[in-house]
Amino acid sequence: MNLRPFGRGRLTGTVDVVVVGAGHSGLAMSRQLTRLAIDHVVLERGEVANSWRHERWDSLRLLTPNWQSRLPDYAYDGPDPDGFMTMPDVVDFVSGYARFIAAPVRTGVTVTSVRADDDGYRVETDRGAWRCRAVVLASGAHGAANLPAFADSVPDSVQTLTTREYRHPDQLDPRGVLVVGASASGVQLADEIARSGREVTLCVGEHIRMLRTYRGLDIQRWLDALGILDERYDTIDDVVRARRVPSPQLIGTPERRTLDLNALSDRGVTLAGRLAGLQDGKAQFSGALANHCAMADLKLGRLLDLIDSWVEENPARLASAVAGLRPADAAERFAATRVPENPPLTLDLTRGRIGTILWATGFRPDLDWLQVPVFDRKGRLRHDGGVVDAPGLYVLGLNFMRRRKSSFIHGAESDVRELGAHLVTYLSRGEVRPRRFEPTQFAPARIAAG
Ligand SMILES: Cc1cc2nc3c(=O)[nH]c(=O)nc-3n(C[C@H](O)[C@H](O)[C@H](O)COP(=O)(O)OP(=O)(O)OC[C@H]3O[C@@H](n4cnc5c(N)ncnc54)[C@H](O)[C@@H]3O)c2cc1C
Repeated sequence: MNLRPFGRGRLTGTVDVVVVGAGHSGLAMSRQLTRLAIDHVVLERGEVANSWRHERWDSLRLLTPNWQSRLPDYAYDGPDPDGFMTMPDVVDFVSGYARFIAAPVRTGVTVTSVRADDDGYRVETDRGAWRCRAVVLASGAHGAANLPAFADSVPDSVQTLTTREYRHPDQLDPRGVLVVGASASGVQLADEIARSGREVTLCVGEHIRMLRTYRGLDIQRWLDALGILDERYDTIDDVVRARRVPSPQLIGTPERRTLDLNALSDRGVTLAGRLAGLQDGKAQFSGALANHCAMADLKLGRLLDLIDSWVEENPARLASAVAGLRPADAAERFAATRVPENPPLTLDLTRGRIGTILWATGFRPDLDWLQVPVFDRKGRLRHDGGVVDAPGLYVLGLNFMRRRKSSFIHGAESDVRELGAHLVTYLSRGEVRPRRFEPTQFAPARIAAG
């Protein structure tokens, strides 16, 4: 790496690869680049693990168990492999990784633009510029909130915030809360806010109903054993749709409880359909709540059928896949989601009952600073499993980017191995054209938070 001072506290340099972002994705790629002896730098606008430090709510725990907290050459090895990390635990885990791999991270450096330049890229930051041959975009999939177009029409008397701005119930007005979106974040926060004594209405569209445990094992053990998390993007019929699938209704708690719509109804949460519009201060809900719930019940049933057949067909594999754990309990089926007979179709936000709207409608990457023509007309990044449609440009951490697990901590290992191999070929032999380009899903209100 070639560094020279550039004014007070500024750096400028030339390097083979610039990685943007020091979350787990950027760090995992840094480890891979080091292994491949590729000169690189990781530029981070805040601190290592910045998103986990500053963009999550206080009570959040991972919904993936500790045994899934693993990165290249590094894994959780504490006494509770089936437990769920708190945010300080995750910050320690990711920061510990940065130290362990001695990642060349420059913190407090915001990338303000990336442009093609000769046979590489010019990366401008608020602390000087870098020249490089390749850039890895590891700046996260949750940079900008997916808000519906009518979000601006919320009456002034109602506070609005996204799941990234929410920290704890005490920051909310004491009146009722409309939680929009029923993926992992939406159900977790509807539960927490209802427990604080506030009246909660949850808007439910397409969602993934999930159990925390099944037949005595954590659901992630089953998804892992069945190979579902390893499914590749290029073996899926409709990857664009698969990338839009919301995150499952899961929560990681010490008591391993299942958090589905029935549990929320039991807690007093009112279920409504998807928030379809806002007119004259009135929220309008879709009438398809029952359909969405029936579909989610059906899909859960199919998953359980799959697990049961796998158990029957693979007794030996079961023993090794879940070695050391207790044998699988008997198959079980669960009550259908209880849908209110007459769910609300409108809610007057001007009447004073609702004090807050919490948008749990998901996020999309914020790549406004990427000045390279790699976006389609809907503003979606064109990439083939993380190989962006421009020579030497790569992305990490997106939903179902190369595998179903790509956006999770444990998904980084295989993605950086494969993209690292592509990158080293690119650097040594010149341009390698990717095979096909599937846009990342950037459409509003579809990518689920969490
Ligand atoms: C609520 C929530 C719960 C989740 N729970 C789980 C879970 O249980 N298990 C799991 O495996 N995954 C979970 N995830 C998904 C995923 O692991 C996290 O989103 C993770 O933070 C993604 O890591 P990343 O490195 O790809 O991106 P990030 O952690 O977001 O890192 C990106 C980094 O890039 C930096 N950056 C951005 N723009 C710039 C710029 N212009 N210049 C310089 N730096 C920049 C940011 O400051 C940040 O540090 C969850 C996500 C959310 C939102």
